[in-house]
Amino acid sequence: MKAVLDSPEVAAKSFIRRDYKADRSQRLRLAVQVAFLALNAWIGVQFYWFVRHFEGTGIGPVSRPPGVEGWLPIAGLMNTRYWLLTGEIPRVHPAAMFLILTFFATSLLFRKAFCSWLCPVGTVSEWLWKLGRDTFKRNFFLPRWLDIGLRSLKYILLGLFLYAVGSMSARAIAEFLESPYGLVADVKMLDFFRFMGVTAAVVIGFLVIASIFVQNFWCRYLCPYGALMGLAALLSPLRIRRNKETCIDCAKCAKACPSRLPVDQLVQIRSAECLGCMECVAVCPVEDTLDLTLITPAQRPVRAWMVAAGLAVVFFGVTATAQLTGHWDTPIPDWVYRELIPRAREFSHP
Ligand code: SF4
Ligand code: SF4
Repeated sequence: MKAVLDSPEVAAKSFIRRDYKADRSQRLRLAVQVAFLALNAWIGVQFYWFVRHFEGTGIGPVSRPPGVEGWLPIAGLMNTRYWLLTGEIPRVHPAAMFLILTFFATSLLFRKAFCSWLCPVGTVSEWLWKLGRDTFKRNFFLPRWLDIGLRSLKYILLGLFLYAVGSMSARAIAEFLESPYGLVADVKMLDFFRFMGVTAAVVIGFLVIASIFVQNFWCRYLCPYGALMGLAALLSPLRIRRNKETCIDCAKCAKACPSRLPVDQLVQIRSAECLGCMECVAVCPVEDTLDLTLITPAQRPVRAWMVAAGLAVVFFGVTATAQLTGHWDTPIPDWVYRELIPRAREFSHP
């Protein structure tokens, strides 16, 4: 790398060295990731206590955290369709709808920043491949033909979910969500992890091990939620943009990119796979050469703190609005929970 930086071609470009080691964007992103992971852990623990209370363990009572519905993306899609069809906010799991719309909005604005700044699964995936890279001094890449084939899987899964939800009427959605299964869909999700079967444990174990060796294995190939966010990100006004005139072709950006995008060869990154993580920007050694930019004629650079602030405004803005307008909690009375939660494992998909 030193040879590239010291070459006459680079000198001829009046290379302005940037102190990229002082870049704080990735520390800021890590702080946001940790905060969101902690929020999810707190929600998970509170929800577990809530469920245990209604299982008659003597714990609590603990109030149900509506944020748990962030883990019910299908309910979120159903409720969004119900809202679009009827104009009414659904009664059961409305937070699932507000959360999926919040994250969709963040993707429209800040590319796939949901995946690289907020999603707890994305955070753990990133930590796993970084662990693999630090342990084995490298990550592994699948052959191009296999990589492209596998990447289509998440879009196929998304298509199946969208087709299934898109073919439901408003009445069918209301009946589904107000059935015993729909009312305790969150408890069913918890039970999936509490009483995990052998098959599910083997699959999750495989995904964890694969994620150590292959960067973002789950997110890159299988996550339909990420696929949806990637499609929304295609409309984002933000792009990674490279200044060809000052670029010294060191390829540091491409090597740092967890989505393996050819950042060093393109002028703009338009790909649905771009996570908005700014890892490429953080490692670029030349001043004003690689930036996340707003696609206006002025191409103003967007700094990491602006992304963090924007994510916070959208997230807290939408969730606070839902709470203040009384559309955040699912108004299920305690006696219904007392009846349904101990029997949650009996309910199968209607
Ligand atoms: S192009 Fe840059 S912002 Fe996009 S995924 Fe790659 S490293 Fe992250
Ligand atoms: S844009 Fe990429 S290739 Fe060009 S100088 Fe920056 S890191 Fe190196």
